[in-house]
Amino acid sequence: MDRMREGEAQKIRLGVSACLLGQEVRYDGGHKRDAFLTETLGPFVDWVPVCPEVEIGLGIPRAAIRLVGDPAAPRLVVEKTGEDLTARMQRYARSRARELEALDLHGYVLKRASPSCGLFRVRVYDDQGVARAGSTGAFARALVAHFPLLPVEEEGRLGDPALRENFIERVFAMARWRHFVARRPGPGDLVSFHTAQKFAVLAHSPSHYATLGLLVAAASGARLGSCLAEYGTSLMQALSIRATRARHANVLQHIAGFFKRRLEADGRAELADLIRDYRQGLVPLVVPITLIKHHVRRLGVTYLADQTYLSPHPRELMLRNHV
Ligand code: SF4
Repeated sequence: MDRMREGEAQKIRLGVSACLLGQEVRYDGGHKRDAFLTETLGPFVDWVPVCPEVEIGLGIPRAAIRLVGDPAAPRLVVEKTGEDLTARMQRYARSRARELEALDLHGYVLKRASPSCGLFRVRVYDDQGVARAGSTGAFARALVAHFPLLPVEEEGRLGDPALRENFIERVFAMARWRHFVARRPGPGDLVSFHTAQKFAVLAHSPSHYATLGLLVAAASGARLGSCLAEYGTSLMQALSIRATRARHANVLQHIAGFFKRRLEADGRAELADLIRDYRQGLVPLVVPITLIKHHVRRLGVTYLADQTYLSPHPRELMLRNHV
C-alpha cells in the first residue's frame, strides 16, 4: 500500500476560529483575517470555521467577555455585567466537539488571547479586575480535552518558523495516517508505512521510533486493531516533540550514508559540507534536503524516495526555507 505522497496529498481539513478567515464575527463586528492561513495555507485546506461566542447565541456586536478567577479553572463572564457564561460555553463546546469528530479534522488553528478560543496565556482577571495569570480559553480547553492528539496551534505562534513547520508537519502526518487507516491496512502495510516514517520520526524522537517498531512487530492477527490505534497515538506524540537542528543533522548524516558507494568523492564532500553548514545554522534545512532529493531522483534510491522526511508537506509552503 503506497503512502500518501506529496503530489497526491488530499486537502487537509482544519478547524479554525472563524474570525481568522476574515469572517466578521468578533465582539465589535470586526475580524482578524490571517494572511498565512488564508493565502499561503488556504489552497491546501478545507476549512471548518467555528465561532463559539456566536454559536452560543451572543450575537454581533456583543459585550466583551473575559476569563476571571482561578487560572486552573477560570470562569467565562461578560465584562460589564458579570453574567457567567461558563456552563453555557462548556455544554456547547462538548457538543460541538462531538460534531467536529464526525468531520475527521486533521488539526485546528485557534485565535490567540481570546477568552473562548485562546490556547496559551489568555488573561485571567482577579476580583479587582487585574490580569494576574495566563490560562486557556473556555472553548479551546474543551477542544483539546476532546481531541488530545489533534495538532492544535494559535495563529500568533504560527509566526515562529519552527512552530509553524512542526504544526504543519503534524497536520499532514495526521492526514496521512487517517488516509492509511481508512484503507484497512494489514500487518505488511503497517511495516511499509512505518519504514517510510523512519527519518521523520528520528528527527523528533529516536525513542519513539523504537517504540513504534515494537508495535509494528506485534501487529498481527487479533492484535492488529489495538496496535494500529497505539501506533497512531505514538506517532502523533513523537511528532509533537520539537525536531532540533542537531537531530535533523544526525538524520541527514544517516541519509548521507546511503550515498557512500553511489556518489563520487566530490559529491560526498559537497553533501557533507552542506550538512555541516546546516548543523552550524549557516543554511536552512531546505538546502541539504534539496541536494539529497536531487541525488535520490538521479540515482533512483527507492528506500529514500519513499521517506516522508524528504517531503512531509507541500513544497509550495516553503516551510523548510526558514528552519
Ligand atoms: Fe469568535 Fe473565537 Fe474569533 Fe472570538 S476568537 S471572534 S470567539 S472565533
